[in-house]
Amino acid sequence: MRSHEYYMSLALDEAYQAAQKGEVPIGAVVVKDDQVIARAHNLRETLQLPTAHAEHLAMEQAAEALGTWRLEGCTLYVTLEPCVMCSGTIVMSRVEQVVYGAEDPKGGCSGSLMNLIEDPQMNHRAKVVRGVLAYSCGQQLKIFFKTLRQRKKESASQ
Ligand SMILES: [Zn+2]
Repeated sequence: MRSHEYYMSLALDEAYQAAQKGEVPIGAVVVKDDQVIARAHNLRETLQLPTAHAEHLAMEQAAEALGTWRLEGCTLYVTLEPCVMCSGTIVMSRVEQVVYGAEDPKGGCSGSLMNLIEDPQMNHRAKVVRGVLAYSCGQQLKIFFKTLRQRKKESASQ
């Protein structure tokens, strides 16, 4: 069994690929039986699709790979705490465990703003591990937005 840090570093690679495309750097992988069955990064701008979040795409890929919408026994690794939509998909697809890196106090629904995935009222709950490689996950986002602001400033002053 490989460590959470190992799989999170794969998710960080995905996040890096998102940044290369000008996308907000968020990456995700889905692991089952110690095998990576899906890996994806945020493609919301590229696809102009509101659902094209890294973990959402990864869960879709995992369902395709397994031939079932039930992601039982799967662990989802994602660099940023899942939003309301992705937390909902985690519950609906019965993902067993979620491991995330940085917290998202403005949009996270896996513990920050609300906690959909551990809500006892829900039919299914996922186990959660928080803060794995949180610093690296957070820094990647910070650097991305800092660069974006600098570019905007530069183009405004030209
Ligand atoms: Zn999301």
